Amino acid sequence: MKMWKTKKGNTIIQVIDKRSNSYLITMEDMQVLVDTGRTSSFSKLIKNLNILSDEKTPLKHLFLTHSHYDHCQNAAKLKDKYQCEIWLSEHEEDFGKSGFTPLPNGTFLLSKWISSLGQKLPNKIFSYSEFSTDVLIRKEDKIETNGLKVILSPGHTKGSISLIVDEEIAIVGDAMFGIFRNSIMPPFADDQKAMLQSWGKLLDSKAQIFLPGHGKEIKRSLLQKEYNKRLKNEII
Ligand SMILES: [Zn+2]
Repeated sequence: MKMWKTKKGNTIIQVIDKRSNSYLITMEDMQVLVDTGRTSSFSKLIKNLNILSDEKTPLKHLFLTHSHYDHCQNAAKLKDKYQCEIWLSEHEEDFGKSGFTPLPNGTFLLSKWISSLGQKLPNKIFSYSEFSTDVLIRKEDKIETNGLKVILSPGHTKGSISLIVDEEIAIVGDAMFGIFRNSIMPPFADDQKAMLQSWGKLLDSKAQIFLPGHGKEIKRSLLQKEYNKRLKNEII
């Protein structure tokens, strides 16, 4: 499992790394899981959480960067098992309750085609077990606790959020993609303009590393390059 450590000594471990990433933050007295992956990753996720769990650091919070099925398909089961609190944006609470979040539009030709195809498929393919949100993240909230800072980073979805650990490492969900070599643009997004603004907001933080929901870590230099390019070309 890939691991990052902040100067304060808190760790982030990638507990799922296949089609969707899931990250476990271990702090002095608790653990926080960011995103849950898909149903097919559930047994691996539990196995890794069992290896990494400790009585002194219970899994207290489950933070969902957004409510797409590939990020929250295990949320209900995890809440049952660990009694952890689910954190989600107020904009996506109703999706969580209904067990389905609409697919966003594509950002380039191929993904536009995939998206329009996906939007015609039955909802149940992209659904998940319903769950209730315990901590609603609202627009006006400034949540900062124990070195964790919540940043609203809409664009991929309206309620997308990022979590910055110790001002050093940001976990960003699908605000960026780490699967392409020279681009971080997610193939799907509800609002590309909002996403560019969110990149700017994330660059305003001191974070140097950005951990995406899919693919590998993104360095600050690549984010800066992508941000400048899109701003200059007025692609958005
Ligand atoms: Zn997504």
